[in-house]
Amino acid sequence: MKPQDLLCPAPEGLYCPPGDFYIDPVRPVERALVTHGHADHARRGNARVMATRETLAIMALRYGEDFCAERQEAALGETVRIGDVTVSFHPAGHVLGSAQIAVEWQGLRIVASGDYKRRADPTCRGFEPVPCHVFITEATFALPVFRHPQTGEEVEKLLASVRQFPERTHLVGAYALGKAQRVIKELRDAGYDDPIYIHGALKKLCDFYQSEGIDLGDLRPATIEKGGKGDFAGAIVVGPPSAFADRWARRFPDPVACFASGWMRVRQRARQRGVELPLIISDHCDWDELVDTIDEIRPEEVWVTHGREEALVRWCELSQIRARPLHLVGYEDEAE
Ligand SMILES: [Zn+2]
Repeated sequence: MKPQDLLCPAPEGLYCPPGDFYIDPVRPVERALVTHGHADHARRGNARVMATRETLAIMALRYGEDFCAERQEAALGETVRIGDVTVSFHPAGHVLGSAQIAVEWQGLRIVASGDYKRRADPTCRGFEPVPCHVFITEATFALPVFRHPQTGEEVEKLLASVRQFPERTHLVGAYALGKAQRVIKELRDAGYDDPIYIHGALKKLCDFYQSEGIDLGDLRPATIEKGGKGDFAGAIVVGPPSAFADRWARRFPDPVACFASGWMRVRQRARQRGVELPLIISDHCDWDELVDTIDEIRPEEVWVTHGREEALVRWCELSQIRARPLHLVGYEDEAE
């Protein structure tokens, strides 16, 4: 028996023949197991969806209650039989509800980790390494040049700028699921108690995080009614990066454009986007986190997907671990 008999790439996504299901399918299928709520992993239109309670709730928030015909809630750490295989979900540390999926059959265990990170995130459970024969890893930042700084340093950069320019609005671009709530929570944990203003596109997900016990403090809509622009002087406004290119952003007084993303390590990207204050805050592993994780799990084999596969495959080979790129299409990662 080969690992490929248990999980193999198909046009719809990663397919498990003995269980007859797909993990994070990019096209509608009969049965989907979903790692987390980001749009490239969690799509609408599958007949049956198994995911953590939080991920199912996030999918319902984004797509409507009818996003699938039948939901199955996965409790973390619990083993469930599907067809001839057993599956279990384990925390991935990526966003609220995110999970790795372990699939086991005839003594062979493969872990599909979805998207994950290793550093602390006050808005979700930390990644738990699961022993396995084959570990499937993402490779979003899989080049040695990608080394994310401490999150606290980046948050302090933002707060220092707010103190330095009390008459300007700090517009922080952050993706709607995960990053926005994490940035807000990190600001709160750093002692920032002022109201934080949010773009309307973030409201539902921020409300959901709050309802899950993640205290984001005083959040207010970033809308200008009849009042003057001066209302937002010195304020922090968080919105999806896409909103910053349109007229919405021009309502604020002399804004400082900030963007919270792992890609802000690349100066050219920050410049192209007109970002004045890049904040390197990532929901994906940097190079060190990736190789440390593989070293910790020490699987017999690593499959590398969505990102820069070659460097990580090479690192595995040099470390005497069999590795190969897994050519899956359709994962752009909205979240960075
Ligand atoms: Zn993601």
